[in-house]
Amino acid sequence: MTDSSHSQQLEFPTQAFINGEFVDAIDGRRFASINPATEALLAEVAQCDAADVELAVSAARAAFEQRVWAGLAPAERKAALLKFADAIEQQRDQLALLECLDMGKPLADALGYDAPATARCVRWNAEAIDKVYDEVAPVGDGALALVTREALGVVAAIVPWNFPSVMAAWKLAPALATGNSVILKPSEKSPLTALYLAKLWQQCELPAGVFNVLPGFGHEVGKALALHPDVDCLTFTGSTATGKQLMVYAGQSNLKRVFSECGGKSPNIVFADADLDKAAASAVGAIFYNQGEVCTAGSRLLVERSVHQALLDKMLAQLDGWQPGDPQSLATRMGAMVDKAQLERVLEYIESGKQQGAKLVCGGEAVQIDSKGYFLQPTIFDGVSPEMQVWQEEIFGPVLSVVCFDTADEAIALANDSVYGLAAGVWSSNVNTAIQCSRQLRAGTVFVNNWDGGDMTMPFGGFKQSGNGRDKSLHALEKYTELKSTWIELT
Ligand code: NAD
Repeated sequence: MTDSSHSQQLEFPTQAFINGEFVDAIDGRRFASINPATEALLAEVAQCDAADVELAVSAARAAFEQRVWAGLAPAERKAALLKFADAIEQQRDQLALLECLDMGKPLADALGYDAPATARCVRWNAEAIDKVYDEVAPVGDGALALVTREALGVVAAIVPWNFPSVMAAWKLAPALATGNSVILKPSEKSPLTALYLAKLWQQCELPAGVFNVLPGFGHEVGKALALHPDVDCLTFTGSTATGKQLMVYAGQSNLKRVFSECGGKSPNIVFADADLDKAAASAVGAIFYNQGEVCTAGSRLLVERSVHQALLDKMLAQLDGWQPGDPQSLATRMGAMVDKAQLERVLEYIESGKQQGAKLVCGGEAVQIDSKGYFLQPTIFDGVSPEMQVWQEEIFGPVLSVVCFDTADEAIALANDSVYGLAAGVWSSNVNTAIQCSRQLRAGTVFVNNWDGGDMTMPFGGFKQSGNGRDKSLHALEKYTELKSTWIELT
């Protein structure tokens, strides 16, 4: 490890976790994990491929068939997962620091949100699992008809880099709670916290083979999992392009269930009668939190024309607090972009906004701290029109596009004119406007007079090309179970 003193104090695994053991990739390859804030090497991580997938799938399958986990009473799985949640909670500081070093997010956010939310998700699913009942169907005296849910078997969870441990927890907690074996494939851009979770699993002495972690690349380990005939379910968070590819792989192999949480281009609609101070502060956080690398980023701002300049002025007044800074400083609200490729991709979008005639109101430039790192200024384009690339496509960076509207119908039509349908926001002090609008928005989540409200009790997922699954809440448990009908004839 060659990064700063902080990471030198941290001990973390870099090998794959298969069948309860940390092991090198079979062919011994490793890939570099780089701190995007300093460009320093953090670790060399095992680079798994199809051969390692074979081992992990057979371990996961064996654990499932032997019922070492699936055969436990729900209350026993609950107790085991609560132990795991406690361990995650106790290691909050280490997990948060690893997340910050690995993908550039502010340490304050990793401490305040990512690490505790990971523990909370495991705890919530653990607590839920011995409180869900199966059904007895309403049939006549001649039969007893049972509608029961059973674990699927082997679940492969393929997750992205923007909230590495939280996205992993949203998959593995309900999949494990319902009795499945899980193989987690973290993004190659942020593998370290997934491996740290494996270390905690091992320290809690939870059963081997039930939870496995395979670091590596999408086209190698991800593809091999997706094509594997003995994987029963792919649960995925990532880009829409990869989500589509996974459905092809499922069709080419064993028709495994594919649940996807994909991209977004979420509209945030501000009516003239909204609390503009609150709306402005929230709109800024909606796009600049986590460097804009958020699937639900409020990246399209629709403002009623009469308050357009007033809202923009209030937003610009906030930006001093959102300039990129050292992610390890607790005062920093915007950290580094995940890597050079992502920084360059976002800069290309900024160039296209300029070329297509949008007005750059602020930002637009890459910056460095101590001559290092992949940082980007918070960027706002005004005067955007709907055919522009910056309005249509997911940028996944701190770039906001603003348009004006005159009527609610126009705002709804603009908002819904997207291939995505993940989230949307409405700001109005008129309850009728807010409710009528939220009913017409084609999005999996609508925020009224807030952005990003919600907790573990609410399902999360998208309409349209934002995906077909739902994470969180009791609804997430359904994805990881088969529904079985048993008709028992009585004499
Ligand atoms: P990505 O699709 O490039 O990668 C996601 C995961 O898929 C990674 O682990 C990657 O290695 C793997 N992968 C890539 N190609 C693969 C292939 N051919 N076969 C199997 N696996 C493959 O996405 P990303 O850049 O890591 O993440 C950003 C995207 O994630 C954005 O589009 C964002 O909106 C989306 N996202 C969605 C949600 C949600 O809940 N809807 C949450 C967070 C992020």
